[in-house]
Amino acid sequence: MNNLENPQDNQWHSLAVAETLERVQLNRQQGLSQAEVQERKNKFGSNTIEAKGGKNPVLKFLEQFNQPLLYILILAGIVKAFLNEWTNAWVIWGVVFINAVVGFVQEMKAENAIAALSSSVQTDATVRRDGNKTTVYSAELVPGDLVFLTSGDKVPADLRLIEVKNLQVNESALTGESTAVEKNAEAVDADAALADRKSMAYAGSFVTAGQAQGVVIAIGKNTETGRISQLMDKQANLITPLTRKFDKFSRQLLYVILGVATFTFVVGLGYGEAWTSMFEAAIALAVSAIPEGLPAVVTIALAIGVSRMANRHAIIRKLPAVETLGSATVICSDKTGTLTENQMTVQSIYAGNQNYRVSGSGYTPEGQISQDENTIEVEKIPVLKDCLIAGLLCNDSHVDKQEDTWKVVGDPTEGALITAARKAGFWANDLEEKQPRLDTIPFESEHQYMATLHEDKQQGEKVVYLKGSVEAVLSRCEAVLDVDARPQALNAAPIHEIVETMAAEGLRVLALARKTVQQNVIEPEDINSGFQFLGLQGMIDPPRPEAIKAVEACKNAGIRVKMITGDHKVTAKAIALQMRLKRQGETIAFTGQELSEMNETELANAVEDGVVFARVAPEQKLRLVEALQSKGDVVAMTGDGVNDAPALKSADIGIAMGKAGTEVAKEAADMILTDDNFASIEAAVEEGRTVYRNLMKAIAFILPVNGGESMTIFISVLLARAEFLPILSLQVLWLNMVNSIAMTVPLAFEPKANNVMQQPPLSPHQPLLNRSLIKRIVLISLFNWIVIFGVFEWIRTTTGNIDLARTMAIQALVAGRIFYLLSLSQIGLTLWGKLRGRLDRVASVPMIWVGIGVTIVLQAIFSQWGVMNNLFATYPLNLNQWLICLVIGLPIVVVAAIANRIDPPNVSQQ
Ligand code: ADP
Ligand code: MG
Repeated sequence: MNNLENPQDNQWHSLAVAETLERVQLNRQQGLSQAEVQERKNKFGSNTIEAKGGKNPVLKFLEQFNQPLLYILILAGIVKAFLNEWTNAWVIWGVVFINAVVGFVQEMKAENAIAALSSSVQTDATVRRDGNKTTVYSAELVPGDLVFLTSGDKVPADLRLIEVKNLQVNESALTGESTAVEKNAEAVDADAALADRKSMAYAGSFVTAGQAQGVVIAIGKNTETGRISQLMDKQANLITPLTRKFDKFSRQLLYVILGVATFTFVVGLGYGEAWTSMFEAAIALAVSAIPEGLPAVVTIALAIGVSRMANRHAIIRKLPAVETLGSATVICSDKTGTLTENQMTVQSIYAGNQNYRVSGSGYTPEGQISQDENTIEVEKIPVLKDCLIAGLLCNDSHVDKQEDTWKVVGDPTEGALITAARKAGFWANDLEEKQPRLDTIPFESEHQYMATLHEDKQQGEKVVYLKGSVEAVLSRCEAVLDVDARPQALNAAPIHEIVETMAAEGLRVLALARKTVQQNVIEPEDINSGFQFLGLQGMIDPPRPEAIKAVEACKNAGIRVKMITGDHKVTAKAIALQMRLKRQGETIAFTGQELSEMNETELANAVEDGVVFARVAPEQKLRLVEALQSKGDVVAMTGDGVNDAPALKSADIGIAMGKAGTEVAKEAADMILTDDNFASIEAAVEEGRTVYRNLMKAIAFILPVNGGESMTIFISVLLARAEFLPILSLQVLWLNMVNSIAMTVPLAFEPKANNVMQQPPLSPHQPLLNRSLIKRIVLISLFNWIVIFGVFEWIRTTTGNIDLARTMAIQALVAGRIFYLLSLSQIGLTLWGKLRGRLDRVASVPMIWVGIGVTIVLQAIFSQWGVMNNLFATYPLNLNQWLICLVIGLPIVVVAAIANRIDPPNVSQQ
C-alpha cells in the first residue's frame, strides 16, 4: 500500500492484473470495505486537486488600469501636478485608484462565484464496495477502489484497467491526441510513454465508448493530471458579447472625447482665454464624457444574473451564455426527462397477438395484468411470461424501496419493465440464480437496443434477450412467438400497427425478443439476426406540468420550442400535442431517417417548420443546430450523451442535464440544469433577458448625466465663459464615479419584470445604443444641461457665490437623478406609472431605496463637510437651498414620462 504514494515508481501499467490487485489489497468480488475506505482516506486524503490560482492577482489589479478612459484621467492628473494643483492631481489619481479597486474586487467576486458554481457540479463514480455496486462522489475515491467505467464517464482517478470491453478513452487533455484510444487490460512495457499505456485510464480523460473495470492507483494531486494540474484551471472568463460591445463603445467614445476636448482647448485659446483655464475646461469635458461607473455595473449585473439562474436550477458554465440566453429564438429540447417526468409505467402489453392492460402507478409493484377486464394468470401464458422476463433480465437498473416509495436507480424505462414483471410475480433475484447473466451489450441511443446473454440452467441452454425500439428489434427477428410460445412466420405489418396505436396514446414502446445460442460472450455482430419476437410493452411518461407552462411562456416570448428525441415519431407527436408545442395548425414531425435524406436547403426548411424530430441519432443534432443557425436562429440545445457533445458545443447555448447527463456532455455545455427540467431553461431565459434589460437601464441612467455635463462645459466654452464653468472636473468625477455607482448598482439588482417573457427575443446583433435609446439619452441630457446651467447662472448672478452656484447645480442634478432612477425602476413605475395597488412590490425591491439612501448621505457629506468643501470646492447649503434643489429636480418626472414613451421596450416597461 505504501507504494501508492508515488505511482510513478510503481510502473502500474507494466504489472499484471493479479499483481495489481495484490498490491492494492483488493478483492474483486467484494471491493473495499467501509473500514478500509476510511483507513485509506485518512492516509491518502481525498481525491481532489486544488484549483490553480489563475492569473496573478497583482497583474490582474494592474490590468484594471488598462482602459483607454483611465489613461486620460491619469494624464489629466499629471498635467494638474505640473500646474502645481496637487490637490486636484491627488483627487484624480485617487479616483482612478478607487475605480481600479472597485473593478478588481467585483471581478474577483464574480469569477469566484462562477468558478464555485461550476465546480459545485460534482462528478460521480460507480464503485464496488462491501460487495455492492454503488455511486459515490469521485472526491470520495481512495486508492484500491474498484471503479466501473462506461461511455460518457469522466475517469475519476488514475486507474489500472483490469477488465475491458471495447473501451475507448479520449485523453486529449493529457496527451494532446484528439482521437479516442482503445484500451485493454494487458500489461505494457515498463518504459512505455503515457500515450501508449493502454492498460491505464487517467483521471480527467473521457470514456467515449465501451465499459471497463479498473483499480484506483493514484488520486488527487498524485494523478498524472494532478501533477501537471493545468487541467483544473478554474478560471472564469468574464468577457461576453455585451462587454465586448462596451469595450468597442468606450474606444469610440475615447476618440470623440479627445477630438472634442482638443477642439474646446483650441477654440478657448482662440477666444484669448488663459491656457490653464482652457486646460481645466478640456479635462472637465473629457472626464464628464466618460461613464466611469459603467464597467463595474456590467460585471455586477452579470454576476447577479448567474446567481439568480443558479437559484432556478441553471448553472452557468460559460458567462456569455447569460446574455445569449436572452437572445434565444429556438430551444431544442430532449423529450424524455426534460419535457416529460421520466416516471415510466407500463400500461399496455402485446404478446402472442393478444393485448393486455397493466394497472397500478409509479414503481410500486402493485397492480394487475388483465385482458378485457379479466385478471389473468401470467404463468399460464408462456409468451407473456417470457416477454416480462425478457424485460426484467435484459436490464441494468434497480427499483428499490426508499422511505416508503419505490425508486429507480438507473434508467426509468428499465424501471418500468422491472415493475411490470414484479406485478406478475417475477423478481430478478430469483431469476438471476436460475438464469445468470454471462454477457451484456449495453443500451446506446444510436443503436436503440440492449442485449444480454444468460445461461438457462433448467433448460440447459443459453439465451440472448434483446430489448429496444421496434425498428431495432423487429429487423433482427425471423419469427414471432404465438400465445403458446411456438414460433410462427413473422409478419411485421400488424405489429407496426399495434405500435402505432400504442404510440398515438403517447406511450413509449419497447419491443422484446429472444434467441438461443451456443457461445459464452456476445458481440454486436452476434445479434444481427435470428431472434424470435416476444412482444411489446408500452409505457406512459406524462409531460411535466411545469414544462407545459414553460412552453407556453416561451411561445409568448417569441421562442419556438422543438422536441428532439430518440423515441418513436407517433409517441413524440402525441406528447408534443399534449404539451401544445405548436400554437395552431398541424404538429409537423420528421424522423432522423427523413432528415438524413434531405439536402441542406430541404433540411433548413424542415427544421424551420418541424416541431418534432423523432428517432434522431445524436450525431444528427449537430446538423439540426447548424441548419437552424443558417436560418439566423439563436439556438439552445439540450443533450446528455457522449455523442451530444458536438451539438452542445456548436449550439449558441449548449445545455447539459445535471442528473442524467454524462460528464462529457456537461463538459461541452454552456449551462447545466440541476433538475433536468425544461422549465429551468425557460427560467434561465427570463433571467438572461432581465440581465440585459437591467444593463440597458443602467446605460439609460448613466449616460444622460455624462451628456448633461459635457453639454454644459462645451457650451460654456463656446459662449466664451470658460472662467465660469458651471461644474469643475473634480466635481464631474465625483458625480460620475461615486454618485453614479451608488445609484446604478441597484439597477443591476432589479427583479424581473412581468413582461420580460411577452417580448420577442433580443437580436444579438443590435447595437449597444439603438435609436430610441439614443433619443432618450439626448432628451434627458438636455434636461440635465438646463438644470446645471440654469441653476449655476441663477445662483451666481443672484448671490455672486460661484462655489455655492456650482454646489447647488450639482445637488439639483442629483435630485433629478433620484427621480429619474425611480422612473426607471419598477418601484417608480408602480408608484406613479400605474397606481393600481401594486405597492407590494416596493417591499420586494429594497436595493433601489438603499441606493437612494446612500446617495443622499454622500451628497450631504459632499456639500456640508468642510474637508469635502476644500477638496471639491463645494459650499454648504442651507435648508431652503436644499429644498430649491429638490424642486428643480422634480420636473424630470415629466421628461422621464416622455422618454418612457419614446423608448419603452428596453428600458421602462414593467
Ligand atoms: P429519448 O431519450 O429521446 O426518449 P432514447 O435514445 O433514450 O430516446 O431511446 C430511443 C429508443 O430506444 C426508445 O424509444 C426505446 O425504444 C429504446 N430504448 C430506450 N431506452 C432503452 C433501454 N434502456 N434499453 C433498450 N432500449 C431502449
Ligand atoms: Mg433516453
